[in-house]
Amino acid sequence: MKNETIIERLGILADAAKYDASCASSGTSKKDSRLGKGIGSTEGMGICHAYAPDGRCISLLKVLLTNHCIFDCHYCVNRKSSNVRRARFTPQEVADLTINFYRRNYIEGLFLSSGIFKSSNHTMEQMVEVARILRDDYDFRGYIHLKTIPEADPELVYRAGLYADRVSINVELPTDSGLTRLAPDKNAMQIEGAMGGVKSAITQSKDEIKRFRHAPKFAPAGQSTQMIVGADAATDSDIVGKASRLYDSFKLRRVYYSAFSPIPDASAVLPLKRPPLVREHRLYQSDWLMRFYGYKPNEVMQATEADGNLPLDIDPKLAWALKFREFFPVDVNRASKERLLRVPGLGVKAVERIITARKHRSLTLDDIAKLTVSIAKVRPFLIASNWRPTTLTDRADLRTLLAPKSEQLELFGA
Ligand code: SF4
Repeated sequence: MKNETIIERLGILADAAKYDASCASSGTSKKDSRLGKGIGSTEGMGICHAYAPDGRCISLLKVLLTNHCIFDCHYCVNRKSSNVRRARFTPQEVADLTINFYRRNYIEGLFLSSGIFKSSNHTMEQMVEVARILRDDYDFRGYIHLKTIPEADPELVYRAGLYADRVSINVELPTDSGLTRLAPDKNAMQIEGAMGGVKSAITQSKDEIKRFRHAPKFAPAGQSTQMIVGADAATDSDIVGKASRLYDSFKLRRVYYSAFSPIPDASAVLPLKRPPLVREHRLYQSDWLMRFYGYKPNEVMQATEADGNLPLDIDPKLAWALKFREFFPVDVNRASKERLLRVPGLGVKAVERIITARKHRSLTLDDIAKLTVSIAKVRPFLIASNWRPTTLTDRADLRTLLAPKSEQLELFGA
């Protein structure tokens, strides 16, 4: 470490942090102006984008404190048996990097995670120290997301939440058996115990703030978690069930999914191939169905195929509609909001606009066409003043008619 400059270590530790999806970042094509051609790069080290609690998209420095680790999670490039270049920052160095990047307007906050160096408590103490220096010594008011270590002393996790806007604890794998096999040093009960502690601290802090204006805030942007998809045999049904239990039990802001990607120097117990990226996307769509469209977890599970996985060629909302055709067609001029939200191709905003517009006049299929990217997808499932699908809803080949034809699967359908 002595011979490596801060920039070299930043290169190692920002690269090592890229496998963590729980600070959501958006993919883009590689563009680079660092050799003097053009302006702007998408390849700068360690900058990711996340959504702040007020809905703004913000840039974060996303980095590990260290990629040294005493644990040996098979799916992780930083596990102790992995042959990667190691590096470590001191808390002061991470705080200084954050402040310097902030002053140059590169970032608006920090996403800090870490391998486990020496012990869980030692690592957690160092992470808390980064946040303490930023808040107390530099009076930093920007966004801080700390990935906390479930094996650490709950008091340290609590201190993390006093400095951070958001804390997260990764459940890592959807099933306990998968965790035991692929992350032998981790324990599902300990992970959920830590999440339970964070949930209680958030609830208590909100109560105290209602009673005492200056009561300390604890993780005001809540807690989140991440699950790796495709590293074990868990089906989408297992994953949806686990996510739903986590939302209910721990009041999580988000469950992030990360499609397992083969890592350099991979362990032999891992699959050789990554799952299709669209599987991760289908899980995010199912997450939206539960959070914004009123679907119960068992209804999302009903959209899965015989192998327990969501279809890849069509989105889960369409898959559910095709299985439960007796629910359709829905009358766009009379149906409740809940029923309209079930119509494939109608998003939440479109449904709100329909409800507002139909107070003034009867809506036609052309009116609906203006609110959706694919009227062909909507037509079999609704009735408008000039449209009734008659036998279309029940056609045996409806799935073939509606599945996207092009190779690029429809990524943003409602
Ligand atoms: S604890 Fe496991 S997942 Fe975390 S850095 Fe270490 S090996 Fe990787």
